[in-house]
Amino acid sequence: MTYVETTGRAPAMPGFPQPRETTMWKCIRCTVEIPYKDVDPGIDSFGIYFICPRSERRNNLINVGKGNLIELAQTSD
Ligand SMILES: [Zn+2]
Repeated sequence: MTYVETTGRAPAMPGFPQPRETTMWKCIRCTVEIPYKDVDPGIDSFGIYFICPRSERRNNLINVGKGNLIELAQTSD
């Protein structure tokens, strides 16, 4: 398994998707791609999410981190 380390982050867990500086979230309503760094994820009783700046559609995220690490990934629904 090849692993490219990024600076300022905990080592990635092999087999898990890791958001990078270049990661783009994709709004499930208007399909606009939003840079990972340009959204501010929120959390409520339904889980983790970000709000699309264009359509204001809620897009669900999941935490794929291990232990105390928080690494967000987008879900398909
Ligand atoms: Zn949108």
